[in-house]
Amino acid sequence: MTEKARKEKVCLEEQCAEQWETMSPELKAQCGPFVYCPFCAGDMVIRCSACGETIHDSTFNFCPWCGTGFKE
Ligand SMILES: [Zn+2]
Ligand SMILES: [Zn+2]
Repeated sequence: MTEKARKEKVCLEEQCAEQWETMSPELKAQCGPFVYCPFCAGDMVIRCSACGETIHDSTFNFCPWCGTGFKE
């Protein structure tokens, strides 16, 4: 498997998804270390960019759901 996935930090609240959409890519790039969503203060979750499943351990090198390797 050569395709690499990214670990995306996201908020699962639907209202926040729109706010995140409007954020510039530069700003989004700084959101990686966030623990709480800046729009609703909810927990941020890490998601596999390949399959969209939630990853519960940020130290994983591979997605446990689709087997895609993560690039750091
Ligand atoms: Zn949120
Ligand atoms: Zn995956």
